[in-house]
Amino acid sequence: MRGVETTERAPRYRAGLPQRPDRIAALPLSKQGYPIPWFVATLEDGTRDFRIISHERLAEAVKLGRCWVCGQNLGGYKAFTIGPMCAVNRISAEPPSHRSCAQYAAVACPFLSRPEMVRRETGLEELGTVKPPGMIERNPAVALVWVCRDYAGKMTRGRALFEIGDPIALEFYHRGQPASFAQVCDSIRTGLPALLQATEHDENPAYSRGMLALELVAALGQVEKCFPGHKADAEQLLTEAMKAAGVTV
Ligand SMILES: [Zn+2]
Repeated sequence: MRGVETTERAPRYRAGLPQRPDRIAALPLSKQGYPIPWFVATLEDGTRDFRIISHERLAEAVKLGRCWVCGQNLGGYKAFTIGPMCAVNRISAEPPSHRSCAQYAAVACPFLSRPEMVRRETGLEELGTVKPPGMIERNPAVALVWVCRDYAGKMTRGRALFEIGDPIALEFYHRGQPASFAQVCDSIRTGLPALLQATEHDENPAYSRGMLALELVAALGQVEKCFPGHKADAEQLLTEAMKAAGVTV
Protein backbone atom coordinates (compact mmCIF):
# COMPACT_ATOMS: atom_id res chain seq x y z
CA MET A 1 0.00 0.00 0.00
CA ARG A 2 1.27 3.42 -0.93
CA GLY A 3 1.80 6.07 1.71
CA VAL A 4 -0.33 9.17 1.60
CA GLU A 5 1.47 12.01 -0.13
CA THR A 6 1.49 15.27 1.73
CA THR A 7 2.73 18.59 0.44
CA GLU A 8 4.57 19.39 3.66
CA ARG A 9 6.90 16.80 5.11
CA ALA A 10 7.47 16.60 8.84
CA PRO A 11 10.87 18.10 9.68
CA ARG A 12 13.70 15.64 10.30
CA TYR A 13 16.34 15.85 12.98
CA ARG A 14 19.17 17.93 11.51
CA ALA A 15 22.18 15.96 10.24
CA GLY A 16 25.36 16.67 12.17
CA LEU A 17 23.67 17.36 15.49
CA PRO A 18 24.71 15.14 18.41
CA GLN A 19 22.60 12.21 19.57
CA ARG A 20 19.58 13.38 21.54
CA PRO A 21 18.75 12.34 25.08
CA ASP A 22 15.19 10.91 25.28
CA ARG A 23 13.83 14.09 26.86
CA ILE A 24 15.15 16.17 23.96
CA ALA A 25 13.79 13.65 21.43
CA ALA A 26 10.31 14.36 22.85
CA LEU A 27 10.54 18.04 21.75
CA PRO A 28 9.09 19.22 18.40
CA LEU A 29 11.52 20.07 15.59
CA SER A 30 11.89 23.37 13.76
CA LYS A 31 11.81 23.45 9.94
CA GLN A 32 15.62 23.42 10.05
CA GLY A 33 15.54 20.23 12.14
CA TYR A 34 16.59 21.72 15.49
CA PRO A 35 14.65 20.61 18.59
CA ILE A 36 12.54 23.56 19.79
CA PRO A 37 13.37 24.09 23.46
CA TRP A 38 10.42 24.13 25.86
CA PHE A 39 11.13 27.74 26.85
CA VAL A 40 10.59 29.14 23.33
CA ALA A 41 7.47 31.30 23.09
CA THR A 42 4.72 30.66 20.56
CA LEU A 43 3.95 33.92 18.77
CA GLU A 44 0.44 35.08 17.87
CA ASP A 45 0.72 33.68 14.36
CA GLY A 46 1.74 30.30 15.78
CA THR A 47 5.43 30.60 14.84
CA ARG A 48 8.26 29.94 17.28
CA ASP A 49 11.30 32.21 17.47
CA PHE A 50 14.24 30.64 19.30
CA ARG A 51 15.32 34.07 20.56
CA ILE A 52 12.10 34.75 22.43
CA ILE A 53 11.40 33.07 25.73
CA SER A 54 7.90 32.44 27.05
CA HIS A 55 7.31 34.37 30.27
CA GLU A 56 4.60 31.90 31.26
CA ARG A 57 7.10 29.06 30.96
CA LEU A 58 9.68 30.99 32.94
CA ALA A 59 7.18 31.28 35.80
CA GLU A 60 6.19 27.63 35.43
CA ALA A 61 9.80 26.44 35.41
CA VAL A 62 10.52 28.22 38.70
CA LYS A 63 7.22 27.42 40.42
CA LEU A 64 6.93 23.79 39.41
CA GLY A 65 10.63 22.87 39.11
CA ARG A 66 10.56 22.18 35.37
CA CYS A 67 13.61 21.79 33.16
CA TRP A 68 14.12 24.94 31.08
CA VAL A 69 15.09 22.98 27.97
CA CYS A 70 12.72 19.98 27.92
CA GLY A 71 9.95 21.06 30.33
CA GLN A 72 9.98 17.83 32.34
CA ASN A 73 10.38 17.71 36.12
CA LEU A 74 13.85 18.38 37.53
CA GLY A 75 15.51 16.08 40.05
CA GLY A 76 17.95 17.01 42.83
CA TYR A 77 20.64 18.25 40.45
CA LYS A 78 20.20 21.49 38.57
CA ALA A 79 22.39 22.44 35.61
CA PHE A 80 22.93 25.90 34.15
CA THR A 81 24.37 26.37 30.65
CA ILE A 82 26.22 29.67 30.87
CA GLY A 83 29.21 31.56 29.53
CA PRO A 84 32.37 31.44 31.68
CA MET A 85 31.84 35.04 32.84
CA CYS A 86 28.66 33.91 34.57
CA ALA A 87 30.92 31.65 36.65
CA VAL A 88 32.37 34.89 38.02
CA ASN A 89 29.16 36.66 39.01
CA ARG A 90 27.26 33.35 39.36
CA ILE A 91 24.18 34.82 37.78
CA SER A 92 22.12 33.29 34.98
CA ALA A 93 19.26 34.91 33.08
CA GLU A 94 17.68 31.48 32.63
CA PRO A 95 16.52 28.88 35.15
CA PRO A 96 18.20 25.45 35.34
CA SER A 97 17.85 22.26 33.29
CA HIS A 98 18.60 18.57 33.63
CA ARG A 99 22.31 17.93 33.35
CA SER A 100 21.84 15.94 30.13
CA CYS A 101 19.66 18.71 28.65
CA ALA A 102 22.25 21.36 29.60
CA GLN A 103 25.03 19.25 28.06
CA TYR A 104 22.98 18.84 24.91
CA ALA A 105 22.37 22.60 24.69
CA ALA A 106 26.10 23.28 25.16
CA VAL A 107 27.07 21.08 22.21
CA ALA A 108 24.04 21.45 19.89
CA CYS A 109 22.83 25.05 20.27
CA PRO A 110 24.39 27.00 17.36
CA PHE A 111 25.01 30.07 19.51
CA LEU A 112 26.62 28.11 22.33
CA SER A 113 28.69 25.74 20.20
CA ARG A 114 29.84 27.95 17.31
CA PRO A 115 31.88 31.01 18.32
CA GLU A 116 31.32 32.80 15.00
CA MET A 117 27.56 32.89 15.57
CA VAL A 118 26.27 36.24 16.79
CA ARG A 119 22.85 36.89 18.23
CA ARG A 120 20.42 38.12 15.60
CA GLU A 121 18.54 41.11 16.91
CA THR A 122 16.33 41.76 13.86
CA GLY A 123 12.75 42.42 14.80
CA LEU A 124 13.27 41.74 18.49
CA GLU A 125 12.36 45.25 19.58
CA GLU A 126 9.04 45.14 17.77
CA LEU A 127 8.32 41.88 19.55
CA GLY A 128 8.81 43.57 22.88
CA THR A 129 11.64 41.46 24.26
CA VAL A 130 13.93 43.00 26.83
CA LYS A 131 17.55 42.10 27.31
CA PRO A 132 18.48 41.17 30.87
CA PRO A 133 20.42 43.92 32.64
CA GLY A 134 24.14 43.34 32.49
CA MET A 135 23.80 40.79 29.70
CA ILE A 136 27.10 40.59 27.86
CA GLU A 137 26.51 40.79 24.14
CA ARG A 138 29.17 38.56 22.75
CA ASN A 139 29.61 34.95 21.97
CA PRO A 140 31.74 33.57 24.80
CA ALA A 141 33.14 30.73 22.59
CA VAL A 142 33.08 28.50 25.65
CA ALA A 143 29.88 27.07 27.10
CA LEU A 144 29.93 26.02 30.73
CA VAL A 145 27.58 23.47 32.26
CA TRP A 146 27.43 24.28 35.98
CA VAL A 147 25.79 21.54 38.05
CA CYS A 148 24.54 22.40 41.54
CA ARG A 149 21.82 21.46 44.00
CA ASP A 150 20.21 24.82 44.65
CA TYR A 151 19.70 28.24 43.23
CA ALA A 152 17.75 31.36 44.12
CA GLY A 153 15.60 33.49 41.84
CA LYS A 154 15.45 37.27 42.28
CA MET A 155 13.98 40.20 40.42
CA THR A 156 16.41 42.90 39.26
CA ARG A 157 15.14 45.92 37.35
CA GLY A 158 12.01 44.01 36.40
CA ARG A 159 13.86 40.91 35.20
CA ALA A 160 14.14 37.49 36.77
CA LEU A 161 17.74 36.51 37.47
CA PHE A 162 19.04 33.33 39.03
CA GLU A 163 21.82 33.08 41.57
CA ILE A 164 23.66 29.83 41.00
CA GLY A 165 24.48 27.56 43.96
CA ASP A 166 27.83 25.98 44.84
CA PRO A 167 29.07 23.72 42.06
CA ILE A 168 29.02 19.93 42.19
CA ALA A 169 30.55 19.71 38.72
CA LEU A 170 31.72 22.11 36.02
CA GLU A 171 32.05 21.08 32.37
CA PHE A 172 33.48 23.38 29.71
CA TYR A 173 32.76 23.00 25.99
CA HIS A 174 34.19 24.67 22.89
CA ARG A 175 32.64 23.92 19.49
CA GLY A 176 30.79 20.97 20.95
CA GLN A 177 33.94 19.36 22.40
CA PRO A 178 35.51 19.57 25.87
CA ALA A 179 37.31 22.92 26.09
CA SER A 180 40.99 23.27 27.01
CA PHE A 181 42.16 25.39 29.93
CA ALA A 182 43.62 27.92 27.46
CA GLN A 183 40.23 28.30 25.73
CA VAL A 184 38.49 28.86 29.07
CA CYS A 185 41.08 31.45 30.11
CA ASP A 186 40.80 33.19 26.78
CA SER A 187 37.03 33.42 27.15
CA ILE A 188 37.38 34.90 30.65
CA ARG A 189 40.13 37.30 29.54
CA THR A 190 38.07 38.64 26.62
CA GLY A 191 34.84 38.82 28.63
CA LEU A 192 36.31 40.69 31.58
CA PRO A 193 36.28 44.22 30.07
CA ALA A 194 32.46 44.04 29.65
CA LEU A 195 31.99 42.98 33.28
CA LEU A 196 34.30 45.78 34.45
CA GLN A 197 32.47 48.27 32.27
CA ALA A 198 29.14 47.20 33.78
CA THR A 199 30.41 48.22 37.25
CA GLU A 200 30.65 51.84 36.08
CA HIS A 201 26.86 52.16 36.41
CA ASP A 202 26.97 51.07 40.05
CA GLU A 203 26.74 53.46 42.97
CA ASN A 204 30.31 52.74 44.04
CA PRO A 205 32.24 51.44 41.00
CA ALA A 206 35.50 50.94 42.89
CA TYR A 207 33.75 48.76 45.48
CA SER A 208 31.98 46.81 42.72
CA ARG A 209 35.29 46.22 40.94
CA GLY A 210 36.79 44.98 44.19
CA MET A 211 33.86 42.58 44.66
CA LEU A 212 34.25 41.45 41.07
CA ALA A 213 37.92 40.74 41.71
CA LEU A 214 36.99 38.61 44.73
CA GLU A 215 34.41 36.73 42.68
CA LEU A 216 37.03 36.16 40.02
CA VAL A 217 39.42 34.66 42.57
CA ALA A 218 36.68 32.23 43.68
CA ALA A 219 35.69 31.41 40.09
CA LEU A 220 39.25 30.76 38.97
CA GLY A 221 39.72 28.53 42.00
CA GLN A 222 36.77 26.43 40.82
CA VAL A 223 37.96 26.42 37.21
CA GLU A 224 41.46 25.41 38.21
CA LYS A 225 40.10 22.34 40.04
CA CYS A 226 38.76 21.12 36.68
CA PHE A 227 42.15 21.53 35.00
CA PRO A 228 44.80 20.27 37.41
CA GLY A 229 48.37 21.36 36.67
CA HIS A 230 47.48 24.88 35.51
CA LYS A 231 48.01 26.77 38.75
CA ALA A 232 50.66 29.11 37.31
CA ASP A 233 48.50 30.01 34.27
CA ALA A 234 45.50 30.68 36.50
CA GLU A 235 47.61 32.94 38.74
CA GLN A 236 48.87 34.86 35.73
CA LEU A 237 45.32 35.41 34.48
CA LEU A 238 44.31 36.57 37.92
CA THR A 239 47.18 39.07 38.10
CA GLU A 240 46.16 40.48 34.70
CA ALA A 241 42.53 40.70 35.79
CA MET A 242 43.40 42.46 39.06
CA LYS A 243 45.46 45.00 37.14
CA ALA A 244 42.55 45.60 34.77
CA ALA A 245 40.20 46.03 37.73
CA GLY A 246 42.63 48.45 39.38
CA VAL A 247 42.89 46.22 42.44
CA THR A 248 46.24 45.76 44.15
CA VAL A 249 46.99 42.54 46.00
ZN1 LIG B 1 15.42 18.46 30.61
